[in-house]
Amino acid sequence: MAEDALVVALQHAILRVTEGNTAFFELAHTLACTTRALTAVAKLDLRLPYLIAYYNALSEHSHSFFYDGIPTAVDLLHGDVPDATARSLPPQVAQHTLASVILDRTALAIRLSRMSDKEAEKLASTYTPSDLPPGVPPRVAVFIARARGVVRALQSSPAASNFVVCENKACKQRFFRAGTSVSVSIDLGGHAVAEPSSDYWSLLVNTRPEPPAERRFCSKRCCAAFNCELDAAVPRLRGKQLDVEPDPGLEISAQARVLAGLRKAAKRNEEFARAIRGSKPSFKACTKTAYKSRLESTVRKLNLDFLLLYSSSVLSESRSLSRGLVLAGGRVRWRNRPNFVAAAARKIAVLYEKFHRDPSTVLHNLLLSSLLLQKLKEQSLSIFR
Ligand SMILES: [Zn+2]
Repeated sequence: MAEDALVVALQHAILRVTEGNTAFFELAHTLACTTRALTAVAKLDLRLPYLIAYYNALSEHSHSFFYDGIPTAVDLLHGDVPDATARSLPPQVAQHTLASVILDRTALAIRLSRMSDKEAEKLASTYTPSDLPPGVPPRVAVFIARARGVVRALQSSPAASNFVVCENKACKQRFFRAGTSVSVSIDLGGHAVAEPSSDYWSLLVNTRPEPPAERRFCSKRCCAAFNCELDAAVPRLRGKQLDVEPDPGLEISAQARVLAGLRKAAKRNEEFARAIRGSKPSFKACTKTAYKSRLESTVRKLNLDFLLLYSSSVLSESRSLSRGLVLAGGRVRWRNRPNFVAAAARKIAVLYEKFHRDPSTVLHNLLLSSLLLQKLKEQSLSIFR
């Protein structure tokens, strides 16, 4: 049986790693995640999570979250810390930030990997936590002891208030988040490279920007699971899906550009409304609060953008009224220069708050009679002046 052979390969790889043969780590780790049966076999070996924590700290993978690279089976917050480890920690540990906690682990793993077996064994004789399963290699034991020791020192220092609960509700693990300066280079939800129109869109929301993901989640895994559910429930519009406008190369008048832009915004909003209509998503990782907040802020952005174009279109119909005014939608990529429309957007937001009742209703139909549209029409001139 092919699977039996893989089980033997996995057990062999784990054995080689525990003997200190790092070349087998990737194989053991990969096999352990390959099929359910192999994962079950891997789980039977209680040493494996500790080995993974140590070798991940040594690996080239960049870690920016507190629990990145550390399997859930490895308890850093409550496990035993040998007295010798606790005593050996310098007092500066209490000033650690999230970034320096992660650096401390990497530096420690590198130091341990460069020691001779004899030195490592000597250290492990005093620095091995009492609750580790038998057979955890000396370097790994010392690594776990210090990683826990750092956490213990932080928990009993003023930094203790920087231990918070992971926002992923399937996890809810406590983690440390002080002084996050590590930035995520991969897009885990909202913190990727800013698009040129991002200032415009943040002008339209009235909520404060979300804190960096490392302050909200314990690990990349938790962050990705949370955002994956949230993105499935409320589509995240980006680039041209969001910044709808007529073809920038098209030679048309400002008035025609405003009108075409308005039609495209109406279509965008209608499609978004269809995507979320009747959806009653159930979440494992994400919270209802996060869902509601994402939904309402997206709807608000789409609605205000649509209303801004609507108000522009009212003025653009009259050459005399629109003379000398910078209208929303009149120029190519107008959202990349939000200063021109910031004042108008603020005035529209005031009317929106007064007359738009349901924060989750997406506006896209100009034919429906609405008090909000009527007010906008009446006040268009003062909005853009
Ligand atoms: Zn978590």
